[in-house]
Order: sequence, then C-alpha cells, then structure tokens
Amino acid sequence: MSTLETQRTIEEAIDTLAGDERFLPELKGGSRKQKFESAKEILTTTDKIIKSYLRVSRDNGRVVRIPAYRIQHNNIAGFYKGGIRFSETVNEEEVENLAILMTLKNALHRLPFGGAKGGVVINPKQYSDRELYEVSKKYVQRFARDIGPEQDIPAPDVGTNEKIMDWMVGEYKTIHPGQNYLGSFTGKSIENGGAKGRREATGKGTYFSYCWLVHHWLKHWEAVEQNWPSSIHRQQFEVLKTLHDRSKEGNAIRVAVQGFGNVGSVAALEAAQCTRLNNQVVAVSDQYVTLYHEQGLDLKRLAQFTGGKGTLPSSEEELKMAGIKATLLPREAVLTLDVDVLVLAAIENQITTDNMDQVKAKVLVEGANAPITQVADSFLHQQGCVVIPDILANAGGVIVSYLEWKQDRVTQLYTEQEVFEEMYEHMAHTFQQVFEAYVRKGLKSIRQTCYLQAVKRLVTLLYRHGKLY
Ligand code: GLU
Repeated sequence: MSTLETQRTIEEAIDTLAGDERFLPELKGGSRKQKFESAKEILTTTDKIIKSYLRVSRDNGRVVRIPAYRIQHNNIAGFYKGGIRFSETVNEEEVENLAILMTLKNALHRLPFGGAKGGVVINPKQYSDRELYEVSKKYVQRFARDIGPEQDIPAPDVGTNEKIMDWMVGEYKTIHPGQNYLGSFTGKSIENGGAKGRREATGKGTYFSYCWLVHHWLKHWEAVEQNWPSSIHRQQFEVLKTLHDRSKEGNAIRVAVQGFGNVGSVAALEAAQCTRLNNQVVAVSDQYVTLYHEQGLDLKRLAQFTGGKGTLPSSEEELKMAGIKATLLPREAVLTLDVDVLVLAAIENQITTDNMDQVKAKVLVEGANAPITQVADSFLHQQGCVVIPDILANAGGVIVSYLEWKQDRVTQLYTEQEVFEEMYEHMAHTFQQVFEAYVRKGLKSIRQTCYLQAVKRLVTLLYRHGKLY
C-alpha cells in the first residue's frame, strides 16, 4: 500500500481502468492484470529523488547549510517539469507528493511534460536579495546535471518568482556555455525570454475554472437534468444554478480567497472585476490575518498595499493607512465564513478532517496544490459541494510555462492576448472532457475523474512505449 495520498488515488484509478474492458481492449486475462499491476508500480514509484545541501553565507557572516531537493517523478509524457518552492516547511514527502501532482496535471492537460518538483528549506522573507541570489545560484550548481531544456524544466512555485528564475537561468548558462539555455527554466522575466502573462496565469486560470463551470458547464448540464447519474450531481447542479441565477438577478455571489500572493491576489481581482458574474469578494487572507468586509473589499487598494509581497494589513493602523474598510479576523477564519465560493490559494492541507464540517462554501476552487485532503474532498463531495481540484483548476501556470518553453525554442514571442487565448482554450478543452466523463461515469468525484483522465493518458503512453511488462 502506498503512503502518499496521490499514490493511493493513482492506484484506485488504475484499478478502475483495469476493470473497464473498453480501455485497451486488446489486453485480456492474466496479461491484462499483469500489465496494470506494472503500470501501478511505475506510476506510484518516483524516478529520482535528489537531496543536496546548499552552503550559503548569510549577511551576518554565518555560513548555513540548507537542505534542497529536486524530485523527478515520471517522464513518460515528456521532459520533467514543475516548480521550485522556497519554504520552511519543505520536506521530502511534500516535494514528492507535489512532483506526482505535476505528472498528473501535465497529463490531464495533455502537455508534453512529465512531473517534477523542487524545494529549498528556507523562509525567503528572512533572506536578503544577496542571500537569495546565492541560494538560487547554489541550487543550480547542485542540480546542474539533472535540469535542462530537454531534461527537467523548473519554474516558480511558493516563495519563488521571476527574479529567482532569472538568476537560475544565469547560473545555468554559466555552467553550460554554448548551449540553448533559455528553455531551461520558465516563469522568467519578459526581458529574459519569459512569456507575457505568466505571472498572472495561475490566478487567472483558477478564476476561469469557476467562471467556466457556472457559465458553460451549466448549459451542458441542463441537457441531462432529468437523468442525473446520482443525487450528488443533482445537488451540485443546483449549487451552480443558484449562483448563476442569483448573479443574473443582480444579487451578489459571495467569494472568499485564502492567500493573497501570486495566485490569490490575481484570482481575487479577476473575481471582483468579472463582468459575467456578479461576484463580491468579501474576504481575503494571508498567513497572519483574514480581512472581511460585508460589502466587498477594495482589492485594488489592497494590491497596492501589498505590492506583490502578499502581506496584508494586519492592524487597525495599517488598515487606516491603506484606506481599507475591513474587519480583522484570525487567519483561519477565511475557511469557514458564510460565503458561496472559497478559493484556496495558499498552501496544502488547509481543509482537513478537523474543519471540513465547518466549511460553508458550496463551491471550492483549489488554486494552490493539495489544499484539501483526500478525506475532506470526499466528505465535501458527498455534501453536494463542487470542488474544482488543483490539477484541473491551477494549471494556467504550467500551460503558460509550456508556451514560454515553446517560444524560447523558436524565438518567436507570443503576445499577451495570444497567451491568454491559448491558455483559456486549452483549459476549456480539458474541462469539457473532464465534465463529460464526470457525468457519464456517475460515481466518482470530480477529483477522481481528473485522476482517471490523467492516469488513462499515462497508462496508454506506458503501454505504447512498451514499458509494461
Ligand atoms: N508551480 C506551478 C505548479 O504547481 C507551475 C509549474 C510550472 O510552470 O512548471 O503548477
């Protein structure tokens, strides 16, 4: 039995596929069983786990030794791809789980990439620019042999950004002179070959996933109204329809957003500015506070205050200084407020068995990776909530990373409009496929349906490549 949540869900998905005779029908009897067991073994084991230590001199003269990881889960679908996070909570298990999620995310969205993830155990807020520069350079030095434009392509994640990617590319270029280096990292600055819109892509895509559901999916769903696969589907339909109708009648859909960093702040602004739905962002939070305002928060001012750093005003004085009307609540209050939509754009393990029965939102969108645990996910699903899972909702980032990687190969740059058009089109296509399967299959949750679609692609590739013994 596998230990990580992602591994267990992969096993479940493979068991379902093995029992579906229409999937790879040429495989029969004992050989079918054997091949699916071998797919299970391949996809629940990780190709490579690299741990290293970065020796970095702090500004105070002390030399510290920082653990760092790059974990490559699987590359059957293409080069390894996934972010690098700088966070004090980074550990091997977390990075491995996130690497597996990347394999699934890329497979679900049909990107030509496998899955990987990196991590450095530091709190970047406690490091000066010079120190961060040193950490970034050392990271590339340690993992130089394992990364590259046709091997493993890192990108930003929690605690990293385009500045760090630029430093890393610089170091990669120094180590590998004369080689094509631009495609070695994505999420770079525009001047350095980055794609326009990459910074906003994850947040925009996260908002889009909810908007798409309420707008487009509802129309398709109305067609099956008399024929629900389960009572949960009916309840979910009613959730979306209520929001849709309420918005049409000019009444607000109440939205709360956990996290005000790269993903949360963009998703919150998108929600507030959306002309299709009448959203009111009543709460946002960061690692210290929740800000709540019944009539909707002034997000533009908040964004100005935070200046992209993600730290909200956390005292009455700061609120006054920023000109923001809001009540200060504890950090975790955002999760259980009386709202319609909850966007989870902070970190993992936020909705768990401890608080799942206090959640009031009926639509939950995972802008972060794994903010809802598997048990909480099935609980919410049983309650008729619509949970849009990470690998579906937050893929805007890696889809635009793919465009960046592509444009760096041909040195023909996309315009911002082209970037977002392609991203939305790509996401909408995946959504259509997932939700058609969701209605057809009937018994799985939206998350399980996404896993099933992703694993289907991976097993097909493993089989076609002759990797199943
Ligand atoms: N870190 C982002 C994610 O979790 C982006 C990864 C990438 O662009 O490679 O999806």
